[in-house]
Amino acid sequence: MSGKKRQITVADQELTVSNLDKIFYPATGFTKGDVIDYYLAIAPLMMPHLVGRPINLRRYPDGVEGESFFQKECPLPGPEGVTISPRYSEYKDDEVNYCVIQDAAGLVWVANLASIEVHTYLARASNWERPTQMVFDLDPGEPAGLLDSARVALRLREELAEMDLQGFAKTSGGKGIHLAVPLNTSVTYEQTKEFARALAGRLADADPEHVVMNMRKDLREGKVLVDWSQNEVHKSTVCVYSLRARERPTVSTPLAWEELEEAVDQQEARRVVFEAQEVLKRVERLGDLYKPVLKLQQKLPKMTD
Ligand code: ATP
Ligand code: MN
Repeated sequence: MSGKKRQITVADQELTVSNLDKIFYPATGFTKGDVIDYYLAIAPLMMPHLVGRPINLRRYPDGVEGESFFQKECPLPGPEGVTISPRYSEYKDDEVNYCVIQDAAGLVWVANLASIEVHTYLARASNWERPTQMVFDLDPGEPAGLLDSARVALRLREELAEMDLQGFAKTSGGKGIHLAVPLNTSVTYEQTKEFARALAGRLADADPEHVVMNMRKDLREGKVLVDWSQNEVHKSTVCVYSLRARERPTVSTPLAWEELEEAVDQQEARRVVFEAQEVLKRVERLGDLYKPVLKLQQKLPKMTD
């Protein structure tokens, strides 16, 4: 999409989008119009992961090299496809009105606000206290990188399988890997956080040379942090299929486990780095590899040591 300003109709709603020619990724020339086009094209796959969920915007009014800010308070007015979920914030000692995207018009409105990245909460707005998934954020500490995170993801997958739990991996679109364990059953953050912490501890104990569970940055050098602490009511994680505001327009992309295995075997991190255009081609071929995260019902067993 190009031009200064345009009226478009998405999901039967009229929207004005603007500054379409502004270059948002100077390294590749990807414009704000390209960001909006990407979200329009990915909407059919991405929306099920977004609908009904409170989000946190991360806005880049001058593109990825400019200033950015997280925004929890929804900057209404917006189209009908955006609703509000109020929640008390201890930090602000006030209510925060989170945006909840209900359809593709809401997503395009968010993209037009230069929110290149879309961050979702692990629960739906209809029940903030019940996470629908447990998440592990595998953060490599330099000189460790994406392949080190991939190795830890594969280890974590095995640990989960021993407990009859299935996990699903995506790239963060940044440095590491996110692993989601779909739950879609009655569970609390207290339970998911405790379980994730115990499992992270198990991995760190088994391989202290490569894995840490402690958040301290100085302990992470050359290792992978298994960040279990994302399992919190007030924490967001970048949504699957969101663009990232990195040098190039990379996307948080779901991966088949075989792809992670092959990348590790071949020592080729680039096999698991995907940009917007590649993702759109990929989903034509593969569909939504993250779909089971929406529906698969799993229960956390008791952890025994
Ligand atoms: P990477 O793989 O490069 O670590 P990431 O998305 O996992 O990318 P992290 O810094 O590990 O980035 O943070 C994990 C998640 O926590 C992010 O996806 C984001 O949703 C959330 N987050 C991080 N920093 C903030 C912040 N300052 N305010 C709000 N949310 C944040
Ligand atoms: Mn991370």
